[in-house]
Amino acid sequence: MPSSNASGENSAPANESRSASSAGPRAGEPSGEGAASQPATRLDPGLYIVATPIGNLGDVTLRALETLRSVDAIACEDTRVTAKLLSAYGITRPTLSYHDHNAARRRPEIVRRIQAGEAVALVSDAGTPLVSDPGYKLVRSLHEEGLHVSALPGASAALTALVLSGLPSDRFFFQGFLPSKRKARRDALAEVVGLQATLVFYESAQRLASSLADMAAVLGPREAVVARELTKRFEELRRGRLDTLAESYDQPPRGEIVVVVAPPAPVEAPAEEELDARIEEALTQMSLRDAVGAVSAETGVAKKTVYARALALKEGPE
Ligand code: SAM
Repeated sequence: MPSSNASGENSAPANESRSASSAGPRAGEPSGEGAASQPATRLDPGLYIVATPIGNLGDVTLRALETLRSVDAIACEDTRVTAKLLSAYGITRPTLSYHDHNAARRRPEIVRRIQAGEAVALVSDAGTPLVSDPGYKLVRSLHEEGLHVSALPGASAALTALVLSGLPSDRFFFQGFLPSKRKARRDALAEVVGLQATLVFYESAQRLASSLADMAAVLGPREAVVARELTKRFEELRRGRLDTLAESYDQPPRGEIVVVVAPPAPVEAPAEEELDARIEEALTQMSLRDAVGAVSAETGVAKKTVYARALALKEGPE
């Protein structure tokens, strides 16, 4: 296990074990100690999607470590970043780069290696690969070729922020990064304004204040949480209304950021007389069908209920 100092960042693993006892379901026999340049365990050919820490080096699973020790090669978003994790855990498997700029070229190469019998791991710089990170086309290619794919779950900044935020976690929508240009950003926000779900955004420190201001403008003054440097030494949660939060960042903060935004306040159902008045007013201007749609959208009352009430009103008192 890694040392358990407060942050765990860059802390080297203490007393590292090369035991194969934590091998994943497809891991086979251990190959023995001391074979640093050989895989630790024989794995079935395939792609192993391995989640890695988002800051605290201790946040890696036993199965992830065993798999990284056992694959023939590790496809990394940035080999220099992954080298730090591998070195902290004494893992010496060969690495190759797989990122947005070389993915089209690398994909067939990785597919060929797996077809030839190799086990290849896919990692990103931090967290769960494919979550705002490269990899889905590779996974797709492997499925198309009928090759094996395993996913080893672990850290992800989106879920870490969501569960820490104290905002409703039963329904959430992961937006990832918003566009960097204001108009495109506001358009993207307009697409999610009506969702009855907590919203989760990745954001850069430089753009945080302007994104929060756009969120406040489009989503309204909702409660939100800015989660910064999760699992790291300077982890910080800042809570407040979107507009207040936007104003609080007069300087861009340091580090990595997730913004979690509360769902819209549920629309309060109007009293019976008010509903009737709205329906009657709508019926003077449009067809029954359109009136039902309009009143339902405006009040949040189910179409079925509005329709029944509209019919009763049209028919008049018994
Ligand atoms: N695949 C990663 C995951 O599973 O979280 C996300 C990769 S995405 C390219 C990187 C973004 O994730 C950062 O810009 C930031 O918004 C968020 N992020 C990653 N690590 C974080 C951390 N420790 N604290 C807060 N946000 C983090």
